Amino acid sequence: MEKKQFQAESKRLLDMMIHSIYTHREIFLRELLSNASDAIDKIYYRALTDDNITFDKDNYFIKIAANKESRKLTITDTGIGMTKEELENNLGVIAKSGSLAFKSENELKDGHDIIGQFGVGFYSAFMVADVVTVITKSLGSDTAYKWESEGADGYTIEPYEKSEVGTEIILTIKPNTEDDNYDEFLEEYRLKSIVKKYSDFIRYPIKMDTTSSRLKEGSESEYEEVTEEQTINSMVPIWRKNKNELTTEDYENFYAEKHYGFDKPLKHIHISVDGAVRYQAVLYIPEKIPFDYYTQEYEKGLELYSNGVLIMNKCADLLPDYFSFVKGMVDSEDLSLNISREMLQHDRQLKLIAKNIKNKIKGQLQSLLKEDREKYEAFFQSFGRQLKFGVYSDFGSNKETLQDLIMFYSSKEKKLVTLDEYVSRMPEDQKYIYYASGESVERIEKLPQTELVADKGYEILYFTDDIDEFAIRMLMNYKEKEFKSVSSGDLGIEEQADEKESAEQTENQELFEYMKSALGEKVKAVRVSKRLKSHPVCLTTEGDVSIEMEKVLQAMPN
Ligand code: ADP
Ligand code: MG
Repeated sequence: MEKKQFQAESKRLLDMMIHSIYTHREIFLRELLSNASDAIDKIYYRALTDDNITFDKDNYFIKIAANKESRKLTITDTGIGMTKEELENNLGVIAKSGSLAFKSENELKDGHDIIGQFGVGFYSAFMVADVVTVITKSLGSDTAYKWESEGADGYTIEPYEKSEVGTEIILTIKPNTEDDNYDEFLEEYRLKSIVKKYSDFIRYPIKMDTTSSRLKEGSESEYEEVTEEQTINSMVPIWRKNKNELTTEDYENFYAEKHYGFDKPLKHIHISVDGAVRYQAVLYIPEKIPFDYYTQEYEKGLELYSNGVLIMNKCADLLPDYFSFVKGMVDSEDLSLNISREMLQHDRQLKLIAKNIKNKIKGQLQSLLKEDREKYEAFFQSFGRQLKFGVYSDFGSNKETLQDLIMFYSSKEKKLVTLDEYVSRMPEDQKYIYYASGESVERIEKLPQTELVADKGYEILYFTDDIDEFAIRMLMNYKEKEFKSVSSGDLGIEEQADEKESAEQTENQELFEYMKSALGEKVKAVRVSKRLKSHPVCLTTEGDVSIEMEKVLQAMPN
């Protein structure tokens, strides 16, 4: 029998997994159960489209069995199974291959971080097991296979006997060490509590033989041990439960179970709508930016269920681009099970749901802004750019949705403020909302162009993001106040000392002409300015395009 090597990246990950002291080892069970449930879902889904396959719900289940003597923990499912090729491809390569390369060597040394970032999946079994054996028979295949691995040094695959379609994962649980207790993963009560904690909502029964003492029949004092098969999970999905019954921890567990992110969610949104359109949704705003968020690879979307059955992993039509950071799922009874991707795009129900979801997210963000400023700012640091991008790229209604959610750094408050806050404290004589663009707050503070406006006591918004000024141009005004760059020619600030200005202009005419001829095409004119206090000179623009915007425009590929 040939021994095969894991792919290089998987091998490194495995090494880290096994050797790092991971505090939540118990999650290996969550991972294996969710794979088992996915495998049954796959058969169910096939049955919908293939008349030769029938799905009788009673025949589909997951079973956990522990044997203390042999130290074996077995998780059996009646799911779709794997072919030999699938075994090689799915269990020999880490699912999110490639992402590991993204992390720097430094971070790689810290096993926790890596595990935290990429989730664990099937490999997590090695946190608790010395040997992992997978016996599997794929739907429609005559041959079953046995895959086995003792960890980082590779795996073997050989043909095997198995009559039923499905998969059996056998873990040989590690012996206890001085510091670590592994025996617990062979204890009935412990296994039950892990299932309850992480996998309660799985739609298929998770069964386990449970032993209890009972009075012997006909006897009043003699007890006997009875073993009975029990279903441990309630099978009620979290989104069907009542909000009041659920704790933040329940939502966090679901987030982790679903691999929506490897952080903790900043906020969860549980929606249950029973009106013109019926649906339930559990949505999350992540705390951290997914590592690929601002890249082309990032795919937005929500999981879409039709009456409890997953029909699509990432339904993009459910989220506008500016809320693409939202993770989660939607379940609706009003959607047809075998609806195709193309049909979904035109589905009226789906459109209604999407609109409704958009408004809920907006509402939740607004209340977060009101009720928990600190959290909102953390959110905005991560995803504000996306909201501003939404303002910019819209010709329809985004503006209204988003203008009250965006924030900018304020010269007065020295922190992020909203447009509403800015406008509400504008002095009466102030005509415009002033802003200054630059690379950083520190740089903008030093801009000579800000002096006159600041001297007037007006607040200035600092635009440090490329997108800021573009977004504002789309917005045009807020509460009827126009935006004005501090470097624009006309600042709209009361003119005084006009005579003095023209006198200075004539006095220095020769110098200005000399400067203009030295600078040539680079400037349009050189003249006396009233906006300067401590700086000798500054650049201003005429017309609508600011210096910073010109820079961005010039840097854009044509
Ligand atoms: P993920 O579930 O995120 O894809 P995993 O590491 O958990 O990653 O599993 C890798 C793959 O192995 C799965 O995508 C699936 O194709 C396959 N797999 C794992 N467990 C089973 C199982 N019990 N039955 C069928 N296929 C499985
Ligand atoms: Mg998995």
